[in-house]
Amino acid sequence: MKLNIAAIALFAASASAFAPRFASPRSHATVLSAVLEERTGQSQLDPAVIERYAALPYPDDTVLAEYVWVDAVGNTRSKTRTLPAKKAASVEALPKWNFDGSSTDQAPGDDSEVILRPCRIFKDPFRPRNDGLDNVLVMCDCYTPNGEAIPTNHRAKAMESFESREDEEIWFGLEQEFTLFNLDKRTPLGWPEGGMPNRPQGPYYCSVGPENNFGRHITESMYRACLYAGINISGTNGEVMPGQQEYQVGPCVGIDAGDQLMMSRYILQRVCEDFQVYCTLHPKPIVDGDWNGAGMHTNVSTKSMREEGGLEVIKKAIYKLGAKHLEHIAVYGEGNELRLTGKHETASMDKFCYGVANRGASIRIGRDTEAEGKGYFEDRRPSSNADPYIVTGKIMNTIMEDVEVPDIAPMDKAVA
Ligand code: ADP
Ligand code: MN
Ligand code: MN
Ligand code: MN
Repeated sequence: MKLNIAAIALFAASASAFAPRFASPRSHATVLSAVLEERTGQSQLDPAVIERYAALPYPDDTVLAEYVWVDAVGNTRSKTRTLPAKKAASVEALPKWNFDGSSTDQAPGDDSEVILRPCRIFKDPFRPRNDGLDNVLVMCDCYTPNGEAIPTNHRAKAMESFESREDEEIWFGLEQEFTLFNLDKRTPLGWPEGGMPNRPQGPYYCSVGPENNFGRHITESMYRACLYAGINISGTNGEVMPGQQEYQVGPCVGIDAGDQLMMSRYILQRVCEDFQVYCTLHPKPIVDGDWNGAGMHTNVSTKSMREEGGLEVIKKAIYKLGAKHLEHIAVYGEGNELRLTGKHETASMDKFCYGVANRGASIRIGRDTEAEGKGYFEDRRPSSNADPYIVTGKIMNTIMEDVEVPDIAPMDKAVA
């Protein structure tokens, strides 16, 4: 069942009928929504109670599998099932499952079943055990009962881009920026309520100190959980706006970049649930004032880019990406127009430009890559809430196109 405002109001009405002694000047609907906003999940912070249950042994040869999928708005959802250990040993052995798509806007009410197909297994960092077996997180994608990918299954489309091109050995390194808020969803961590920090951007990026770094324990916990899960998380850092943080996933090969990043987002949200901190991937959570937005910079290389003469291959790829700039922008995340303004280490959304070591460019070639004549490039345009399957699949399609490419030289932002 969908939990919506009407359901809360209904519950509130019946509560008032049966429990008039709780009547107060505030309506029950207000009280209930306040409870949902601020108290939900608080019991997770009581370690003594949780430990009592977490210490119980599992039945023999039994594991818990948390099936995770991407919902209609790009968030992750999940549900758990109990399985015999051998059925959770590989993606092939894991059974398909289903969920009520009418509750997630992913299927009509009269034909509501959506099928979950396991794609990738990780260790479950939220249910560790020490009896020689592992509980698992299972990244899934979504199909109709007839076996067709549902419209929000962007993984299936990306697979078409990567399949039969394995010999390109494309790698992606995704930089996931995110912003942490108090549960009011208005006050970023470290900000005064209703106001702004009294110091501008500058001291917060890669910072230390209680006046500079807000949310380190969340990033750190997420980092450990991702490593335990088997995610190829390559690092973290504090970001430019106070309350903003970043981690990187990769390099990962082809479709695995999307699978790993999506699962890392799931883990991030689970960690924030435990800390009772609100995490948003919105690309411009604070529009007023002089504050950086949040992106998902996408670092890319193919085998030939990493080999001798790779820089020429990279330049050709950049030319092709430039020719399709608007097509890429259209699928690089919602709200990205608020971020890609040409200020705050971004390039303007209307113009494509690229440069060496230029953080104001659409695409950046690192100094090492230029010096060595091979390596990778960074597409700085995708927003933090972009779908990694769409972004990686789109880049793959564009750079694999067989089109004539003129010789090009990197441009500085000023002349682009
Ligand atoms: P930035 O300097 O832009 O902040 P980061 O260090 O945050 O860069 O992220 C760089 C990402 O690029 C990392 O995830 C890293 O693993 C990835 N990366 C490194 N080499 C390659 C490569 N050859 N191809 C693709 N990604 C790469
Ligand atoms: Mn980075
Ligand atoms: Mn960054
Ligand atoms: Mn970057």
